[in-house]
Amino acid sequence: MLQGKRAVITGSTSGIGLGIAAALAVQGCSVMLNGLGDPDRIEQQRQHLEQRSGVTVRYHGADMTRPEEIRDLMRAAVEQLGGVDILVNSAGIQHTAPVEAFPPATWDAIIAINLSASFHTIRAAVASMRGNGWGRIINIASVHGLVGSANKAGYVAAKHGLVGLTKVVALENAGSGITCNAICPGWTRTELIEPQIAARAQAHGGDLEAGGRDLLAEKQPSKQFVTIDQLGQCTLFLCSDAAAQVTGATLAVDGGWTAQ
Ligand code: NAD
Repeated sequence: MLQGKRAVITGSTSGIGLGIAAALAVQGCSVMLNGLGDPDRIEQQRQHLEQRSGVTVRYHGADMTRPEEIRDLMRAAVEQLGGVDILVNSAGIQHTAPVEAFPPATWDAIIAINLSASFHTIRAAVASMRGNGWGRIINIASVHGLVGSANKAGYVAAKHGLVGLTKVVALENAGSGITCNAICPGWTRTELIEPQIAARAQAHGGDLEAGGRDLLAEKQPSKQFVTIDQLGQCTLFLCSDAAAQVTGATLAVDGGWTAQ
């Protein structure tokens, strides 16, 4: 379905981004991985995905807090893959604290990684996509791009900003073959939310499964986690011809969280 396409997925060394990279690769799309982590483990993941999919899989370690490294990532994708047709912004971090106790440096890091990095990748990618008259930009926002929760000032502000950026990029490129959309997941079991599960598990003698059930019960009516595979399939839909007129949209994948 995506033979010959080229994708950059930020934050794809674990969790949702890695799952999306795999979903794109097995459809024939060559991919540029990005993210932090142990270099040996990342190289193993890269090789594994290349062997499984048969497409070119590269890795660039750009730190999403550094605009010049992000520019280098996008340049490397053009040089090594031949261009960028699909951009998925998935890099993200989380921190929970009341606003008066929220560390300013953590606020800055969340805004940089969860919001500003997408501005930097998008402005580079749009130039490459315009030349081909086709492009798909998919921002992994969150239910927290649509509604707030206590103790998440940085995250909620960044994700609302990302939804706003999505709409502007969609409008500026409407009719050009380039679409820009946001996927807004609810709770998805990845490293990002493990500290929140662990905090709730304390009330159950450290039982992480019980902590996970408490987390779901607070917000997610389905009481089931979203799966990484489901988010990969949603990404494939947004890359498909069926979604050519879907742009500037927020796709909530949240077990009913934002219907409440
Ligand atoms: P994760 O921690 O498994 O993945 C985060 C990725 O971002 C990793 O690859 C990490 O290396 C990368 N990253 C972090 N800081 C970086 C930096 N400075 N430079 C480059 N890469 C960096 O978490 P995840 O749940 O897969 O998160 C992916 C995205 O999904 C995030 O944007 C997150 O906000 C969003 N999201 C997650 C959930 C959830 O419940 N897990 C829900 C809604 C939205």
